Amino acid sequence: MNAYLTAGQIKSALANTPQITFEVTDACNLRCEYCAYGKLYSDYDNREDRMLPTETAKRFIDYIGALWASPDNHSVNNNLYVGFYGGEPLLNMPFIKEIVGYLKAGGHAKRFAYNMTTNAMLLDRHMDFLVEHDFSLLISLDGNAENDSYRVKADGKPSFEQVVKNVDMLRAAYPDYFAKKVNFNAVLHNRNSVDSIRGFIKERYGKTPRIGDINDSAIREDMKEEFKRMYRNSYESLLQNENYDEIEKEMFLSSPTYHSATIFLMQNSPFKYENYNELLFGKNEDIAFCPTGTCIPFSRKAFVTVNGKILPCERIGHQYSVGQVDSKGVMLDFEAIAEKYNNYYSRLEKQCRLCKNQRNCIQCMFNLDGLEKGKCDCNGFMDEKQYERYRQTQLAFFARHPEAYSEIMKNVIYK
Ligand code: SF4
Ligand code: SF4
Repeated sequence: MNAYLTAGQIKSALANTPQITFEVTDACNLRCEYCAYGKLYSDYDNREDRMLPTETAKRFIDYIGALWASPDNHSVNNNLYVGFYGGEPLLNMPFIKEIVGYLKAGGHAKRFAYNMTTNAMLLDRHMDFLVEHDFSLLISLDGNAENDSYRVKADGKPSFEQVVKNVDMLRAAYPDYFAKKVNFNAVLHNRNSVDSIRGFIKERYGKTPRIGDINDSAIREDMKEEFKRMYRNSYESLLQNENYDEIEKEMFLSSPTYHSATIFLMQNSPFKYENYNELLFGKNEDIAFCPTGTCIPFSRKAFVTVNGKILPCERIGHQYSVGQVDSKGVMLDFEAIAEKYNNYYSRLEKQCRLCKNQRNCIQCMFNLDGLEKGKCDCNGFMDEKQYERYRQTQLAFFARHPEAYSEIMKNVIYK
């Protein structure tokens, strides 16, 4: 088995992780029909209305705090993002308040910046605290009342009216905060479109929303038809609009076409640098091959679930946890994590070596069906012809938007 990843790399990634996110509860006051923890999927722990104990989170913070003080910490930047995730995080406000206080009192050299994804149903009660601590808020809203109609309450009634009432209240009470710190996140499906979501959020709140597709991995066998009925692809939805040139320009990186072109440019431009060392002393052209586009665990985030499972992020199945934090302490065996990853990589090596898209790959192996069974086919695999088509599509985008090259090179920091 090839050693793509070492225990030392993983420990170092955790000591320098830019973000810790806590799943503060698995309870939610909505029942969105496409929810990643709902009826369509099979890869998450049962939802049992639990709250993450503050002691568990404090144990994890202390563990990472010790790494910050060790030689493994070589971050120049002392900012650390702390995320609160759910379920609906505002259902566990005592946890959030206590952890913010604990971090403040900890005497760490880090500067903490807080963020949260919320459905805004309880925003009216908790906005003062969020504003006081300068939280970045990502509010889930799929567009107008019809667009948003999959986002229902426990009694099946729509949540739209209450959500926009709360968001309007926040904007009226704290206009500067709203302008700087609030953004919107929408899911695309068969009751909205890129254009209708963008039009509604722009007109009502003056913001450009992020738009994502419904998660397409780990769909339950008996739900595949239901999934197909709801699913829409944001790339296709954008291109269906006759004004798509204008829309994609306005949405910039939130548009799927700009996003794809940015990845292409970042992987292929000789003028993109990972860090100052590369800029000043030249790039290492001898980068070892590693299958897929999966991140080194913790290099982007450390995520703790409500059950104390430790994961590299919240977007992968809970079966891929790499450690545990509970009343006994933090259990992270970096050697075992490296072995686990190297084992998964070796299952994909053959396919990825043949793939012409290797250089641009952003496919996370944990979102490929069949990884655990050792037999998974990647839909993003490209032979020479497919890669050439992909390359031509990206070049055509830059021909259509000649200004995009300098916009991306100037404004995008790619991590
Ligand atoms: S989805 Fe995969 S590659 Fe992306 S941050 Fe999570 S673990 Fe890393
Ligand atoms: S896109 Fe290609 S390189 Fe990436 S995971 Fe799929 S087969 Fe491997």
